[in-house]
Amino acid sequence: MNLIRSLWVMAALSTFCVPAIADPVPRPIDIHWNQGAADCRKTPQPPLQVFQYDPQTYILRESPCATFEAPFMYVLIGTDRALMIDTGDVADPTLMPLARTVMGLLPGQGAAKLPLLVVHTHGHLDHRAGDPQFQALPNVQVVGTDLQHVKQYFGFNHWPDGVDHIDLGHRVVDVIPTPGHYPSHVSYYDRNTALFFSGDFFMPARLIIDNTAEDIASAKRVAEFIRNRPVTYVLGGHIEVDANGDTFDFGSTYHPNEHVLQLDKQDLMGLPAIVGQFNGFYNQRGMYVMMNQYRVLAAQLAALLLIVAGVVVMIWRFVRHRRRRRRAMGN
Ligand SMILES: [Zn+2]
Ligand SMILES: [Zn+2]
Repeated sequence: MNLIRSLWVMAALSTFCVPAIADPVPRPIDIHWNQGAADCRKTPQPPLQVFQYDPQTYILRESPCATFEAPFMYVLIGTDRALMIDTGDVADPTLMPLARTVMGLLPGQGAAKLPLLVVHTHGHLDHRAGDPQFQALPNVQVVGTDLQHVKQYFGFNHWPDGVDHIDLGHRVVDVIPTPGHYPSHVSYYDRNTALFFSGDFFMPARLIIDNTAEDIASAKRVAEFIRNRPVTYVLGGHIEVDANGDTFDFGSTYHPNEHVLQLDKQDLMGLPAIVGQFNGFYNQRGMYVMMNQYRVLAAQLAALLLIVAGVVVMIWRFVRHRRRRRRAMGN
């Protein structure tokens, strides 16, 4: 009995003495992203940049000259399959050799090529325009972006609550609902690298918030999720500010002195406080410009209608005045 007890104690001690798995260490992201140009025709540039973060992780970016959106995409390689997050803003493979480039990054040749799962942070076109390049390829599955597809594929029964997982083989990626920018927006957390992929939910760019209540709830949900987890970097969908935090003009193909892509855990933990100050229309906190694009668009349309109405009234008054003068001269 004593022997059994001492064996049990030794087993328990050995369990407690197993050294904890060290938190992933942030690796340097030492790449200068292509800054585009004011006149892209005079400055031809490669359409796509690829950065190898580690042997199994790639960051891709479409050049600001290929599309002013200049979105980022990510490739994560496991032992059973690879994951691609977002497919960018350019459909034409002759202009944007996305699928060819990504398939070239995956291990294996021909039928032995590692299978690829293509998912998205959300359904805005600048994150899924490249889907057709992948849809016809063998061993590639592309997941839809509407809420029904996202809920169904990941198995969210109580959207937006709960966290799902994608198992790539010795690499598990968590899927966290983050609606607010887009109804079916999700973020991804890679347990191996502790990278958090936030799409357009959080990034050094305009934060377009179409549903404030959902966005605040998502920010709180994410803060709760990462509270006790390591986060090496938060990687979003775009960069739209410079190193001083000033926003580039909307639609600009020129991004001089661009802010770095990566944000950190503290930035993401602070998001509930930032979004909590959103006025529902347009305002800025630090480098984050927050806007509801539909309301801003409606206001711009209303302003345009007012200007048109004002011009019509002026023309009508001018015509009436001339008629009166003619009549007076005729008399
Ligand atoms: Zn978006
Ligand atoms: Zn976007």
